[in-house]
Amino acid sequence: MTILDKLERKLGSWAIPNIAAYLVAGQLIVWLLSLRFINPDGTNTFLELMYFDSKLVLQGEIWRIFAFPLIPPLSDPIFLIFAWYIFYMISGALESQWGAFRLNVYMLLGACLGMLFAFLLPGVPITNEFWGQSVFLAFAYLFPNFELRLFFILPVKVKWLGWIAWGYLGLIFFSNPWQVKIFLMASVLNYFLFFGRDILLTMRNKKRVAEMKAEKTKFEAEPFHVCGTCGATDKSHPEREFRYRDDECICDDCLAKEKAAANS
Ligand SMILES: [Zn+2]
Repeated sequence: MTILDKLERKLGSWAIPNIAAYLVAGQLIVWLLSLRFINPDGTNTFLELMYFDSKLVLQGEIWRIFAFPLIPPLSDPIFLIFAWYIFYMISGALESQWGAFRLNVYMLLGACLGMLFAFLLPGVPITNEFWGQSVFLAFAYLFPNFELRLFFILPVKVKWLGWIAWGYLGLIFFSNPWQVKIFLMASVLNYFLFFGRDILLTMRNKKRVAEMKAEKTKFEAEPFHVCGTCGATDKSHPEREFRYRDDECICDDCLAKEKAAANS
């Protein structure tokens, strides 16, 4: 029994079912409120109050901790509807696979780790972008062959989108200072805590299958008969027949030559 199973037994009744609906509703309210605070330069006074900034949290702006999951992922209404729809759908799929408790833990853990390691970046406003990505990556891991229709037209398998998401994270990782690297790793740590063991086992299994295959090919390539006189084998000369004389192997070609030499 894993730690998560034990926790679920004790705290499972506290789980919030259909949590994505509350998050999307919260983000919708925040987005609607933020519409009134758009500045001429494109910034948003209201959203700036929602971003997680460890320096400001330490100065007493505690609400930023709770506002963190409610930051809308985008500003454009059309893309926003699309993003909410996908988030709602993948959360529903994860909940049906895991149950409400595990999904709650996954999301809570991701948010807490992200905010905790945001303390490495004081003064930098942090959004919930990576947190949302960690939810998507969980979905891509569990439902790799699910087909999403990009912009409702182009069908794409979720595993490819998952690889693109990993590529994007890798790009950010390698092009940023160490504080961002650590923050990024912490942001997807929930993914590795949930799937790390699975991934390792799969990799080990794949390695074992590959080793067994290599051994089989090696065995198949090895000759069964080797002529002690000319060195021909049943692999190099499959047309020849091989006989044994006093434990020594000889091919029919060499045998015929021997006979011809004896007769002359
Ligand atoms: Zn021979």
